[in-house]
Amino acid sequence: MNIPKSSFPRVVIIGGGFAGINFARKIANKNVQVVLIDKRNYHTFQPLLYQVSSAGLEPDSIAYPLRKILKNHKNTFFRLAEVESINSEKNEITTSIGNISYDYLVIATGTKTNYFGNKSIETYGMPMKKVPQALNIRSLILQNFEQAAITNDKENRKALLNFVIVGGGPTGVELAGAIAELKNHILPRDYRDLIPEDMQIYLLEGSPRVLPTMSKHASKKAAQFLTKLGVLVHCNTFVENYDGKKVLTNLSLELQSETLIWAAGVTGNPVEGLRADILIDRANRYKVNEYNQVEGYNNIFALGDICLMQTDAYPNGHPQVAQPAIQQGELLGKNLIKLIEGKPLKKFKYKDKGSMATVGRNKAVVDLKHFRFAGFFAWFVWMFVHLMALVGFRNRIIVFFNWGYNYINFDKAARLIIRPFNKLN
Ligand SMILES: Cc1cc2nc3c(=O)[nH]c(=O)nc-3n(C[C@H](O)[C@H](O)[C@H](O)COP(=O)(O)OP(=O)(O)OC[C@H]3O[C@@H](n4cnc5c(N)ncnc54)[C@H](O)[C@@H]3O)c2cc1C
Repeated sequence: MNIPKSSFPRVVIIGGGFAGINFARKIANKNVQVVLIDKRNYHTFQPLLYQVSSAGLEPDSIAYPLRKILKNHKNTFFRLAEVESINSEKNEITTSIGNISYDYLVIATGTKTNYFGNKSIETYGMPMKKVPQALNIRSLILQNFEQAAITNDKENRKALLNFVIVGGGPTGVELAGAIAELKNHILPRDYRDLIPEDMQIYLLEGSPRVLPTMSKHASKKAAQFLTKLGVLVHCNTFVENYDGKKVLTNLSLELQSETLIWAAGVTGNPVEGLRADILIDRANRYKVNEYNQVEGYNNIFALGDICLMQTDAYPNGHPQVAQPAIQQGELLGKNLIKLIEGKPLKKFKYKDKGSMATVGRNKAVVDLKHFRFAGFFAWFVWMFVHLMALVGFRNRIIVFFNWGYNYINFDKAARLIIRPFNKLN
């Protein structure tokens, strides 16, 4: 791996997501040697992936090079590699580019898409967890429009223009709203040979309401906003099978569709090698104590989505969103230095800053601790929070400019099929 020997303890971080980079920032230029390993050379701002999928933003405005984030961290090395396993007895990990030893290991590998064992959805559905997957969705939507414009077969045109989004959490709601904007503003202008009414967007949610983790007020408002945009919302609806053409659900609803976007769940993305019993069933998350130390290991820590810290306030662990990952990363950065210096550590206490989701071009819902609101002002708050949270000044400026341009012109500038998506069927 070509990492020089150092007299300082070596801290290896697996994963440059929200948790990994915030931890790395906190231990920058301290008396440790840091090695950050990620299978991608960039950090992904996942909350805006849906805008890449729906042609609102280019991927480079929501991704940021990890080496650039670390450029002033003199004690930090980055290696582009996939971590394959951990050997806790030897204090060593195996990666796609070789082995490396550690004094302290920080696992921040996030989550992966959860298909709940449904092979048909895994085979034919479109996940949206990574930049390449978001680009696949963008290509498929635009390819479907092109195909629909040339087909004389009415049924086939309908299937090409039926978009089924599964999962009514923030991701599904935001994506449904953005695709509805494509239908309402882009289709009539760019595809004059298509009838916008032929295009339908279905949002299927298994629980009784969309945004089930937010307040009832937010759910109600989001459903209203979606309906106004023309999205067909079906709650209490589970997809049972999808063969690439037809969606079968638990109810009598059957849909002909060439596109099923799967936004219905994630599961932890652990690395092989640690004891199996420290992974919580189904969630696949490492059990950690209030210092993010993995149960049974003194020098291994887990942060963010991959860890599960049971506290009185959060008996099932913290929500798998950006804030716990950021806050845990920052605290562990301080705590690890204290641990090395033999000082007492501080316990993690999550500060819930609220949750929000946007619906279309000027509506959003926001839940704060003592206050909830929806509509245009909420959308403004949503935009501000997301702009500020983006990594990199350049990305903030580009996104701000794009949103302003799109808002004034009712446009989506990134309608490009750069890398055509090949469907399996
Ligand atoms: C589509 C989508 C929308 C979302 N919207 C929101 C939102 O609006 N608000 C919000 O708060 N949260 C949102 N989230 C959740 C939020 O993105 C996560 O909670 C957050 O990213 C967790 O941070 P993390 O550091 O734990 O993991 P991640 O950010 O997922 O980072 C994990 C990193 O580990 C790397 N990695 C994984 N395995 C390996 C390996 N074996 N070897 C090397 N590298 C590896 C990955 O490449 C990645 O860089 C969204 C998530 C998705 C998928």
